[in-house]
Amino acid sequence: MPAADPPRRATDVAAAVADGRTSARAEVDAALARADALQATTNAFTDLLGERARAAADALDARLAAGEAAPPLAGVPIAVKANLAVAGVRTSAGAAILRDYVPPETATVVARLEAAGAIPIAMANLDAFGMGSSSEASVHGPVRNPVDPARVAGGSSGGSAAAVAGGAVPLAVGTDTGGSVRQPAAFTGVLGVKPTYGTLSRSGVIAYASSLDQVGLLAHDANDLAVALDAMVGRDPRDATSLDVPAVFARDLRTSPAADAGAGDAPLAGLRVGRVVETFGEGNAAEVEAATAATLARLEVLGAEVRDVAVPAAPAALAAYYLIASAEASSNLARYDGTIAGVRVGEDGDGQVAVTTASRGAGFGREVRRRILMGTFALSAGHVDAWYARALQVRRKVSDDLTAAFGHVDLLATPTAPGVAYPLGARVDDPLAMYLGDADTVLANLAGLGAISVPADVPGGALPVGLQLLAPPLGDGRLLQVAAALQRA
Ligand code: GLN
Repeated sequence: MPAADPPRRATDVAAAVADGRTSARAEVDAALARADALQATTNAFTDLLGERARAAADALDARLAAGEAAPPLAGVPIAVKANLAVAGVRTSAGAAILRDYVPPETATVVARLEAAGAIPIAMANLDAFGMGSSSEASVHGPVRNPVDPARVAGGSSGGSAAAVAGGAVPLAVGTDTGGSVRQPAAFTGVLGVKPTYGTLSRSGVIAYASSLDQVGLLAHDANDLAVALDAMVGRDPRDATSLDVPAVFARDLRTSPAADAGAGDAPLAGLRVGRVVETFGEGNAAEVEAATAATLARLEVLGAEVRDVAVPAAPAALAAYYLIASAEASSNLARYDGTIAGVRVGEDGDGQVAVTTASRGAGFGREVRRRILMGTFALSAGHVDAWYARALQVRRKVSDDLTAAFGHVDLLATPTAPGVAYPLGARVDDPLAMYLGDADTVLANLAGLGAISVPADVPGGALPVGLQLLAPPLGDGRLLQVAAALQRA
């Protein structure tokens, strides 16, 4: 496959491998070459997995040659965010303290994708531990946006987004604690989905904020997302919060009018979409307002009914999110003590306190330290009621408001982010400006809801904008159906 014409769809690759038009090895070799070229312009990857990927491809080709039936993602090259464990491969989470960490086991979701025939060809760059919105806070250096390499790719799954948008792979795995799949998808012009909390196992995900963390996927094509989700869902005994979600995303997409070419011109007839009024207007870039309005109008053309709805607690969500996420991070990251986990700085004779202090001081970057300090403060005696406990109350109110809104509509719509991809460095010294970009995405994580970012309608040559759609609990299939309808239109 020529490098100038990378495969846009995972299912096309799998079909070609299945019927022998190509081999898994040829697809993996081509993807590795594309990834190598993309790395030079974007720094999307922490590591390319050449040897491991080629061995997996050869093994798959041998099984197919021996007559085994082709799995649904046969030979599909994928990128995996470097905070998801892949056995035998450096999984740094973008952090100095895990710079040399090679896990002994593979994250459940990645193992399930591999069982379905997908082949990880690279670990994708990210903000350390997923803390950030621009993929600049990485020990491996910043990720650049393939759409405009002077700009950020978004974050924290910026490497995964760049890998898909830059054409190295048709599908990438990310994680989304407060928008880290959806916002980079918006900044690079691809689809990014974070399903309902519990849909995808977190076993093997390097924990950031466990009550918010969820695995997500990036791709160009809604059906690819559906096929990959089918491979990844299902209860995992290793994650007590995982749910037994049935693998029917692809089937439901196929049978939905939205994905049916013959469904006439109103494939979304009957769908009620609520435009969350608090997230539009003031505070958004003009191009975000224009692009999201155009895409909402397109939904109406496709038969949906778009109406305004209120989520009164929405403006308070961001502050609650940053308190809760930081509080959980301060606890999750306590394990990196330089002795049991993490790069060790200092000698035995220095004593545990000195080793831990030196290791954490050297191994955590500025942003991670900020989160640990903020989170520890929010949980500390005398402050916990004023900060953490109040944040939990706001979380409940956000959730209640969203539930109430779903009493009137099937899906909710917001911009994915209030702005477009900004120049590298523009926000590294202004954390508040960085955080403000997450105002719309954190709603879904606080409430545990599934959400997707779909590319909105921008004029030719303009920077990408995302429209975010949120579904009621376990309504993720509907998100894919709307994405498919927009894709077709
Ligand atoms: N930008 C948000 C944060 O820094 C979200 C990150 C994420 O989803 N991992 O917390």
